[in-house]
Amino acid sequence: MPLHPQRTIAELKELRALTEDANGAQRVAWTDTWLKAREWFTSKLQGLPVEDHYDAAGNRWVTLAGESPQALILGSHLDSVPNGGWLDGALGVMAALEVLRRFAGEFNGRPPLTIRLVDFADEEGARFGRSLFGSSAFAGTASIAADRNRADRDGVTLEAALRRCGYDVEAIGDAQRERAHAAAYLELHIEQGPILERQGLPLAVVLGTKGVERHAVTFHGQEAHSGSTPMTSRRDALAAAAKLALEIRPIARQYPDAVCTMGSVKTFPGIVTAVVGRCEATLDQRDLDAAVLADMFGAAKAASRRFAAEEGCSVEWSRIWSIEPIPFHPALIGFGEETIRELDFHPQRLPSGPLHDAAEVSRAGIPTVMMFVQSLGGISHNKIEDTSPEHLELAVQAFDRLASKTADWILRQTQTQ
Ligand SMILES: [Zn+2]
Repeated sequence: MPLHPQRTIAELKELRALTEDANGAQRVAWTDTWLKAREWFTSKLQGLPVEDHYDAAGNRWVTLAGESPQALILGSHLDSVPNGGWLDGALGVMAALEVLRRFAGEFNGRPPLTIRLVDFADEEGARFGRSLFGSSAFAGTASIAADRNRADRDGVTLEAALRRCGYDVEAIGDAQRERAHAAAYLELHIEQGPILERQGLPLAVVLGTKGVERHAVTFHGQEAHSGSTPMTSRRDALAAAAKLALEIRPIARQYPDAVCTMGSVKTFPGIVTAVVGRCEATLDQRDLDAAVLADMFGAAKAASRRFAAEEGCSVEWSRIWSIEPIPFHPALIGFGEETIRELDFHPQRLPSGPLHDAAEVSRAGIPTVMMFVQSLGGISHNKIEDTSPEHLELAVQAFDRLASKTADWILRQTQTQ
């Protein structure tokens, strides 16, 4: 079968109709709608010379066996956030299927190397707060101890939700077996941000995923009566936090791709008649360069101490979560640029702010790269998420070319071994 990008769009629309309601896509992992999406995907495999199974963490693997067991892996995730969009994750899986069909057609069902499609389980972490669930099990970076007791809003544990779908949380590490013969991983994804649209470009090659420093920052001052406490003798914890909220902007602006966000601020006692005695804020800092991330973290910490002192407060930091920047493979980044140039567009290079399954695959030491396609209005995780049909078609074409270049690269390496 030759590549047929319009089929990808038609299939994405089918999936959308099957799994959305008035508020958007509802393919939340471990729910019936997600299982229905996966069952629908099974119907798309009919007639293809492939083997299809789920691993111990619920990742789906569709394998088109080739002359060489060395495998080029293509994938993303079919799960969505609640009230999500039609393209986040699904585009990558359906484009991977189209490319797999093309390989099967071109080589009469037996390409020179093995092509595998993966639909990672629970990329979004929407229900249990654990993003990249399946890909981290595959990469061997999952911590079952931490995952076992996670529960959703209704008190259902992750363990129980997995069991209902036929998986044992204790065994998810067995998904690492799928790493055998993995030679490279490619993922097509919507940008989920405004940069490509602003530049009038359809596609970008992704340099890696940004590292994240995520901290709780708590300022301690003195609760006091709002009527009787003179302005000069206040120890206002919110004032110190507010100064920090503004200061993180110049800190981030020193670097071209860095971002800093104070996403949550809670005041105590939090009543209209009291000076704030305690203020609990969160800080999320991201960059692709570990040194930049460390600098920003140091600068924010120093600024928080300065502002605390100015307001007669103290400040305390505790790390909520962090992850190092994960750069993608230089040779594959090169193929991505080459591909976009061949299609007559400027090969924009972008870091990814959001994490993706590709980050976990890369962490496992498998050469990895992603390609982004423009998102209209930069909107994602929302039912209005969209990409123009021309750009979707172009993206499937580009992804197919990238797959061919990467396949040739894998074969060249196999021959020289
Ligand atoms: Zn996604």
